[in-house]
Amino acid sequence: MLSRRVNMIHPSPTLKITATAKKMKAEGKPIISFAAGEPDFDTPEAIKNAAIDALKQGKTKYTATSGILDLKEAICKKLATDNNLNYSPEEIIVSNGAKQCIFNALLSLLNEHETILIPLPYWVSYPEIVNFSGAKYKLINGDKTNKYKFSAKTLKESIDSNVKAIIINSPSNPTGAVYSKGELFEIASVLRDHPSIWILSDDIYEKLIYTGEEFTSILNVAPDLRYRTIIINGLSKSFSMTGFRIGYAAGNQEIISAMTRIQDHTTSNASTISQYAALFALTNRIDDIEKMKSEFKRRMNIMYERASSIRGIQPIKPDGAFYMFTDISQFIGKKYKGNLIKNSEDFSLKLLENHFVATIPGIAFGTDSFIRLSFATSVKDIIEGIGRLESFVGSIE
Ligand code: PMP
Repeated sequence: MLSRRVNMIHPSPTLKITATAKKMKAEGKPIISFAAGEPDFDTPEAIKNAAIDALKQGKTKYTATSGILDLKEAICKKLATDNNLNYSPEEIIVSNGAKQCIFNALLSLLNEHETILIPLPYWVSYPEIVNFSGAKYKLINGDKTNKYKFSAKTLKESIDSNVKAIIINSPSNPTGAVYSKGELFEIASVLRDHPSIWILSDDIYEKLIYTGEEFTSILNVAPDLRYRTIIINGLSKSFSMTGFRIGYAAGNQEIISAMTRIQDHTTSNASTISQYAALFALTNRIDDIEKMKSEFKRRMNIMYERASSIRGIQPIKPDGAFYMFTDISQFIGKKYKGNLIKNSEDFSLKLLENHFVATIPGIAFGTDSFIRLSFATSVKDIIEGIGRLESFVGSIE
């Protein structure tokens, strides 16, 4: 009865864990959650006030589908000052979150027989959006010895005549890995030889890098690829504004107007009130962002140090974002209280049911031998939760 297209979209593998955790919490269980996909900080007060002001001033009607001009100009200014990238407002679309930008972009680019390259492990929605588009995806394996970043060599080997696009996500969800200038330069050198391949650069975690390195976009090292690159970004993570649903894309005018056509007939503009709040956020210096970043770094170090001292647990040290992707392969195939741990979902569920710690199984990101731990939670919970993880794996036989 349902359409072929919707049947191609799978339910989120994270749902079972998060629903179970919610139910257990409601029953009064002392749940510690490492499952969060958003900053736990409140949206800065001044941004909230800007949204209230917009409401009071009656900014409550439709806007142009691609967003208000002031906001698009502010985005151009941000791209110029923060990223050294020059765009004009006609080359910008504001959408309901970066997720909608990715959706618009993939549906604008991909035909059914075409393929997009997705680095493994991946953010859970990339393959599902490709499934929805009817196109195909091909996974590029990350290099185990390099925080699971893919190399230019692997990229080269993955390209065939059906490949129309590639997604690059740095800092990465789920690994927190950040591609260096040199790595991006090599990747760009391969892509330069394939002029029909589009590049989607998902820069949503740009502001959360803990190594002291500057964020680099592929266009910083290869400005000649601008005509076939779409920059994806948004305010969800950098300004703790996930619920406002403001993302944006920058690209050439042709692709941006194609994306706008899709948005014209799906959601129209992103929330007007949120657009004004975003305009405020981008045009005023908000110190809260730096505070949020240094707190994330502090928590990351605590989580990493404690978890990496547990026998059999091998976290990848995150250079960015707020996730610690952790290899638990040594426990797969072993037993907990007499029951076999078959895969990452089993591991996560047993940890949740017995020690009340919620994590996301790696299979959600295409890698069944990992779990993802989010440090978008308090230090107290990190210490307690990692302690419980240690007790849990200590009783696996
Ligand atoms: N890209 C990545 C890698 C993400 O992790 C997320 C959010 N989880 C998004 C895009 C989408 O963010 P939003 O739609 O809230 O802007």
